[in-house]
This record gives sequence, C-alpha cells and structure tokens, in this order.
Amino acid sequence: MENRPSNNDKFDSDNQEEEELPINFTNISPSLYQKTIELLKYNYLCNECLGRQFSYLGTGTSNFERAYAILLGITMECHLLLAKTTFQERYTLYDQNPINILDLLAKKADFLPAKKIFEQFKEKEFLFSKLSNVPKKDEFKCQLCDNILLPVSISEIGKNIDIEALDYEFPDFLIGTHLNAAQADKEDELRAKFNLKNGESFKANLNRLIGKKLQEIWKKQPKFEQPGLLITINLEKKEKIEIKLRSLPLYFRGRYKKWVRDLPQTHWHCFECRGKGFNKFTKKICTECGGTGDKYPSSIHDLIGNEFIKATKGELALFHGAGREDIDARCLGSGRSFIIEIRNPKIRNVNLIEIAQILNEKNKTKIFVDSLLSTTKKDIADIKRSSEFLRKNYNALVYFAQPISEIEFDDKLQKTEEFLNETIINQRTPLRVVHRRADKTRKKKIYSITGKYVDSRHGFFKISSQGGTYIKELIHGDNGRTNPSLSKIYGYPMQCVELDVVEIEESK
Ligand SMILES: [Zn+2]
Ligand SMILES: [Zn+2]
Repeated sequence: MENRPSNNDKFDSDNQEEEELPINFTNISPSLYQKTIELLKYNYLCNECLGRQFSYLGTGTSNFERAYAILLGITMECHLLLAKTTFQERYTLYDQNPINILDLLAKKADFLPAKKIFEQFKEKEFLFSKLSNVPKKDEFKCQLCDNILLPVSISEIGKNIDIEALDYEFPDFLIGTHLNAAQADKEDELRAKFNLKNGESFKANLNRLIGKKLQEIWKKQPKFEQPGLLITINLEKKEKIEIKLRSLPLYFRGRYKKWVRDLPQTHWHCFECRGKGFNKFTKKICTECGGTGDKYPSSIHDLIGNEFIKATKGELALFHGAGREDIDARCLGSGRSFIIEIRNPKIRNVNLIEIAQILNEKNKTKIFVDSLLSTTKKDIADIKRSSEFLRKNYNALVYFAQPISEIEFDDKLQKTEEFLNETIINQRTPLRVVHRRADKTRKKKIYSITGKYVDSRHGFFKISSQGGTYIKELIHGDNGRTNPSLSKIYGYPMQCVELDVVEIEESK
C-alpha cells in the first residue's frame, strides 16, 4: 500500500482519483492608493478622517499615520513618474497625470510633501494639465470633522476640559460624545458611496484622540466602568462645542437621632400650592406657606444634605433612610441609619469627623448625627431592605376618649399582652398615607407590649415590633384597618399623643 495522503493534505495531494479543487485568483485592482485618489476627488479630508476609513487595516498605528503612509506612497509614485517624464514621453498613474494627483493631495488632503513636489514640477507640467490654485493652509476644511480632529483643535478641546475640571477631584475619567445628526450622516453617506468597510466610528476616533490628550495632561487613566469623572462633549450645536462634566456620586452612611416633634425626615411641599409658592389661579402668594412652597421649613434631609453639599461642593443631596418616623415622633436611642448621596461632587476626600461636628453644633436642638463613614450605592438597597425586618422599640403616650380606672387599665393590659405579644397582626395601609402608598394589607410582628397607668385619661406603653409597623394605627385601630388594635382590646377610642422611637436594632 502506498503512503496515501491524509485528508488534511488533500490540497497538495497528487492523487489522481481525487477531484481537483478549482482555485480562483481574482484580480482586484483598486488599491488603497486608487481608492484614496477617488475619495479626494470628491471630498476634502484631513489625515485623521482619511486614515479612519482604513482603521481596521494595520495595527499598532494611528489613523493619522495610516493616512500619512498612503498619501506619502502616492506622492512618491507621482514623483518617480514626473522625474522620468520628458516632453516626448508622458506617464499616467491610474489614468491620471501625476501632477494632477499631487495637486489633489495638496488641495484636498492638505498634504505638505505633495505640495512640495507639486511646486517643484508645476512649471514644467503646466502645458499638459489643468491646474487649480492650491488654497492657503488656513483655508483647508475637512468636510467630515470640520477640522475638529486636527491636532491643534484636539489640543484646544483638551485644554478647555482641563480648565473646566480644575475644581474636581477624580481618580480616572471617561469621554462620551454627542454628535450632531448631520455629521454622522455625512460619514455614513461617504462610506456607502465609496464602499468603505474598514473604518471605525467618528465618535470612537474623537473620544480616543481627546482621551490621549487628557491622559497626557493629567497623567490619569481612562476607566470604562464607573469613571471618577464623565466628560461629555456635545457637538450637536454646530457653532459651539459644549463640554459637560459629571463626577461619580459619593455615598455616606450614618445614624441620626431626632430630638424634636415638628421635623420631617424629607422635604414636604406645601399641599395648598403644591410647592409653587403661589396660587395658580389668582397668582397671589400662597397664604398657607407664605410663598416658600414648603410645608415645613426644614427637614433632616436638608440639615444633613446641606452640610455635605458644602463640604463636597456637590450639586444635589439625596436622602435614603432606613425607614422613617412620623414628623411628630422623636427618634432616640442609638438613632436611625441613613445614607446621603451627593451628586456631582467636586471634592471627594472629606473629613467626616469635622462634618459631624459642624452639623451637630449647628443643629444641636434638633438632631444628632454620628457613625459617619463612606459607603457605596449598593448599601442603599441593603438598609432599605433590612429596615423592614429590624426590631424597633417605641414609647407611646396614649389618650383615652373616656375615663378609665387603674384596675380596668391593668386588666386590659393583661389581655393586650396575651393577645398581642409575639403575634402577627394584619395592617392595611393607613388612611393617612394611602394617597401615597399602595393600599394593601401587610403582616407585621409584635414582639411585646407593656404598659403603665398614668391617669384616668392617659396610659403609657412600650411597644416592640417589626420595622414598618404603623404604631399610631396599632393603637387607635384605623377604623378596623389594623386588626387587632389596642383600642379594640380596651374597648375605648384611643389616640397616640406622643410617640418616640427609642431603639432601632442595628442592621448587620
Ligand atoms: Zn477630518
Ligand atoms: Zn403654599
């Protein structure tokens, strides 16, 4: 048996039994040179925009160098032909007079080496070609980028961004661009018309050039996920390049205590004018809020947020609480967890001890903040979620609509403990909040209730329950929406007159 070639070798097999595979060599003549000359016949293109059309060809180089290499190659071919031309013999390159090609390169691509050879031979070649006037350098305008991608313009944009970013502290950055639609269309049209399939996008080209420039200025690296500074370059308005800077938000976690009974956790708009400050029909100043648009002059959010805005030179503070107490309830014990989120901060390294000191000194009659530390966005969801399951302890002073004796109070208290300690109650969304929260029934665990007789109209209760329990409703029953309730067990209408959150379990 002969040593037969394996399947892998069949392309160079000399075995006659196997069918010969036809190989077609297609002669594709339009080269990069010819295509470039075609492109320049109809378009003014800077080196960057020309090179971009071939950016997937050749690695480890730049669009500028790609264009330069092609243009220099063509120039050298032309030079070679012009150098051997005598009056008797004429040469063409791609069916064109080399002097016309040089003219094209000089004029439409602003290519200096072509200009030089052109100048050298134009007198001699004048008789044989139609030559146009080469425009002066400052007249050149690339029709794809309007000269934005020229090195001088990239430098200027880089400098402007550097000036804008002067106040910002940031470890890394990323550049994004909004193009105007006409600009993107021009590039698409050009590529369709000349069958150009090897080019990256204008956007990627611009972002990379400016990114490199900024890397050079700042000695900082670009970062694609969560960059410290996001730079947006807007080219939508033709007359002006807009630069917008946005830094990564900062998150700080802490705990607050609230000493007063008239301070909401977050900002409330005036109900009367819906926060506008004036009556929308009469256009007169709102009598309810005196034109401020606020139902309450301040909030825990404002007091804490303002101090952080000052320290970070941020734009906006958002407040995320681990649940909330009623406006008229105090929050004592070790306080309640919160996260303050600062949008677009300029300063990232702040002294949290100092901020807490200033905050507590300024607001010492209202709130107290401690345990401040830096955290991340993920923590917001964590404190919100865990808040629902944390055990919370309350003190409630309760008013009875009818007088009650101490004996009866104690008797009913015993029943209350039997009925409610370590049980689950059904609580439908209270009437007072149903306008802003979904109307549904929630199951909440009551751990313990103890009480003390105060006088014939007042009792004092210590209630320990699962986070999110509406304590006022647990006391008065909310027209049967909370069941069972203290009022139902006692058999009297009851109202909570003072409520304090005295302890919130720490979330792990
Ligand atoms: Zn250009
Ligand atoms: Zn108002």
